[in-house]
Amino acid sequence: MVLSKFNIFIDNFLFNTLTGYAIELDPWEIEKVKSGEIPAHLKEVIEEGFSSTDDDLEKVVEGLLKKPVLEPTLVLTYKCNFDCVYCFQKGFRRETSVSDRTVKGFVNYVRRNEKGRKVRVTFFGGEPLLELKRIEEVSRALLDLKYSFSLVTNGSMLTGSVVQRLSSLGLSHVQITLDGPKEIHDKRRYYIDGRGSFDVIINNLRVIQDMVKVVLRINIDVNNLTEVDQLLDELRREEITKVRLDPHFVHTNMFRNEWWDNVIPKDLEAEVMRKFWESAKDHGFDIPHDIFRLGICVAHIDEDIVVDPEGRIYPCWAFTGNPLYVKGELNEDGTVKVVNPSLLGRNSLKIHDQCRSCPFLPLCMGGCRFLSVLDKKGYHGLDCRRETYEKIAKLVKLLR
Ligand code: SF4
Ligand code: SF4
Repeated sequence: MVLSKFNIFIDNFLFNTLTGYAIELDPWEIEKVKSGEIPAHLKEVIEEGFSSTDDDLEKVVEGLLKKPVLEPTLVLTYKCNFDCVYCFQKGFRRETSVSDRTVKGFVNYVRRNEKGRKVRVTFFGGEPLLELKRIEEVSRALLDLKYSFSLVTNGSMLTGSVVQRLSSLGLSHVQITLDGPKEIHDKRRYYIDGRGSFDVIINNLRVIQDMVKVVLRINIDVNNLTEVDQLLDELRREEITKVRLDPHFVHTNMFRNEWWDNVIPKDLEAEVMRKFWESAKDHGFDIPHDIFRLGICVAHIDEDIVVDPEGRIYPCWAFTGNPLYVKGELNEDGTVKVVNPSLLGRNSLKIHDQCRSCPFLPLCMGGCRFLSVLDKKGYHGLDCRRETYEKIAKLVKLLR
């Protein structure tokens, strides 16, 4: 048996970045495995999760690209009832909502490309619930397929009755954001007229956490870093405990404003994540097993189109609205006209020399295209976060 090149030894754990397997071992077992002498009682598990089936990196990548599910995204509108301080679409905010032509094109696209597989659509915005009828229209048109959908929403309009209405049409989960306790959240995520949104979201969460899976995103920067614990306290007090936590770092953007001076420096990201997950565990929240699974993102998978209201196709959600990063246009019949071949997933999925011997490759694939652009390395640059990954991988011990 050949050990996988994607194995990482972390203290008493062995973790594989390709399979996602992690096991806790005794020190003597670790020594044996490292030397290639696999103890008999470990043979089966090592074979399944930590051995190599193919050493050819190009084939490994090929395997990761073959997905059993089609996952397109439809940006229903650039309009939003919020005006969050760090919104990455600030400079692209337009009064546009999805056109009939784009809806037809999207439905036809899915029908042409699902090929009997599961279809998971994400509705994105702006605020997608401003276009509730369009969500229903698209879902009805696809309901005879193996169809489900999720929403990335600010949560202000996601009442129990809306969830009920959408559940029969295939709603699988929602992503909602809370950035801290009330006084912090309301300074960051407020309505266009300046009113805070915390109370409305908490009221909705109390009801819907029993009706649909909720991913609770928390956007972290230096302005809320120390208050994140208070949010976890508050969620417990409110008995909002069924949500899956999903912390992210606020990052800079194409449109500079003073808020970007507050991002967490790269070299502190791993430490902040470690503290967050340890605290989440202390507060009784589940630690999701896929906190390490980054993997090949939508930017590399051309069939997982990200379409905006006007039918323009972007590499991923973070580029939506930016005319410089339109990679194609969606036709009404569901075909795609490529307008910028250099942004195609295949053309951006290059294995850089420095990545060839890196055990984090299946999680990273050379990093995020958007962050590479922000770092002025260009769309095809390397966004290496190996140091951060090495530290974050230590969180595997929390999964016990
Ligand atoms: S809710 Fe989302 S789209 Fe709306 S302003 Fe906030 S970050 Fe932007
Ligand atoms: S970008 Fe860095 S962390 Fe990612 S695969 Fe390459 S060397 Fe590894």
